[in-house]
Amino acid sequence: MLKRLYNFIRPNSQQTRRQVYSRDQHSVSRKHISSGALQVMSRLNQAGYEAYLVGGGVRDLLLEGRPKDFDIATSATPEQVKRLFRGARIIGRRFKIVHVRMGREIIETTTFRAHHSDSNKRNESSQSDSGMLLRDNVYGDIESDAARRDFTINALYYTSDGFEVHDFCNGLHDVKHRTIRMIGDPITRYREDPVRMLRAVRFAAKLGFKIETKTEQPIRHHGKLLLDISPSRLFDEMLKLFMAGSATATFQLLLDHDLLQHLFPATAACVKSDAMGLQLIQQTMTNTDKRIRADQRVTPAFIYAALLWPAMQAEQTFLEQKKKMSPLQAQNQAAHKVIGDQLAHTAIPKRFTSVIREIWDLQLRLPLRRGRRAERLLEHPRFRAAYDFVLLREEVGENMDGLGLWWTQYQDADEHGRELLQQQLSNTAGNKPKRRRRKPKKPSEQ
Ligand code: ATP
Ligand code: MG
Repeated sequence: MLKRLYNFIRPNSQQTRRQVYSRDQHSVSRKHISSGALQVMSRLNQAGYEAYLVGGGVRDLLLEGRPKDFDIATSATPEQVKRLFRGARIIGRRFKIVHVRMGREIIETTTFRAHHSDSNKRNESSQSDSGMLLRDNVYGDIESDAARRDFTINALYYTSDGFEVHDFCNGLHDVKHRTIRMIGDPITRYREDPVRMLRAVRFAAKLGFKIETKTEQPIRHHGKLLLDISPSRLFDEMLKLFMAGSATATFQLLLDHDLLQHLFPATAACVKSDAMGLQLIQQTMTNTDKRIRADQRVTPAFIYAALLWPAMQAEQTFLEQKKKMSPLQAQNQAAHKVIGDQLAHTAIPKRFTSVIREIWDLQLRLPLRRGRRAERLLEHPRFRAAYDFVLLREEVGENMDGLGLWWTQYQDADEHGRELLQQQLSNTAGNKPKRRRRKPKKPSEQ
């Protein structure tokens, strides 16, 4: 069906004239739109407001994908939306949106935005010296709203009453040609909001699209603007980058566009020379994608543990060799430093930092598994994550004396099997318990 429509579309020029495609000219079907989103649009329409499905919802339906969420754009102000729906909440200051609760769904509803030049009121819009939008609450009409969106493929509007797709920026042409193209001047738009660079990479990875040259070229040079973004926003972005099923491709694109250094500077520096560390991260991303496809749980703590592992290990080695610290002491100090440094870039909620540290800590404890220790380790709440981490390290070529296999067998074994595995340890010279040497007393204690 799209084919028929595409024949109508002229090659891209960034226009703002509205092109309207009727139901027989596009493949967006009401059937695939959530009932919550349809209800929100219909109630807004009944109250006399314009309401459209926009963004990923339309884009992914055109590509026959399953949208992650449905966003609505409307001519109603946030206050007007709130009045129409019980259980609607206005959230955000920088960018006000309304969360409308419909049963178990939350439908994000935004009011049409306009250009900043259309307002001189500071409480509606403001911009930093570098051009970054600090506040973006200037309301407008659908045309100005389309121009304020990031990429042409994200600026397609579907009306549920007319079954039409409205296109202001040749977005359908770019969907067909699998292209990520910034609306307007890319450099200005990156200055307004540097996160758009991460979004370009994220959509390219997720959809398998190419980033159009003018949209792509400034990224390398302007990546440093990400340093102006708050660590908490970058944490949210990092979840979208790595926990949405395309982490492997996303990570590669972050490297290719020199963006990793602005999100994870220590990691970016290490992987230049640490091939095994790089492989460990890549394998983590592949495993994460697989788990997501299989509907298995993934935690940001594990991804962080892998991303920061090469930097933590480099620091640990330095402390062991140069400061003569024990591995445990060195690792503790290295973990503290590496996590602390990272917090300046992407926030990591406390509940995750403690898990990262436990996963690392268990890397030193899992080899010490004689006697009752093994059972105790098995009961540790992070055992599974730490064991997976050992397997990962072995998978990328680290020699851990068969530690992963031993633990795999131990978990599967019955009581007798576990005894045999313990005996195996006793027979291995390297695993004999070391006799502690008494510290010589200091002269003052004698
Ligand atoms: P997905 O939900 O699959 O990640 P999406 O395109 O729906 O993709 P959202 O973050 O849900 O992305 O945003 C919804 C829409 O809002 C986008 O499609 C885009 O039109 C607009 N948008 C979001 N973030 C920005 C931004 N930083 N600058 C300009 N427009 C944006
Ligand atoms: Mg969305």
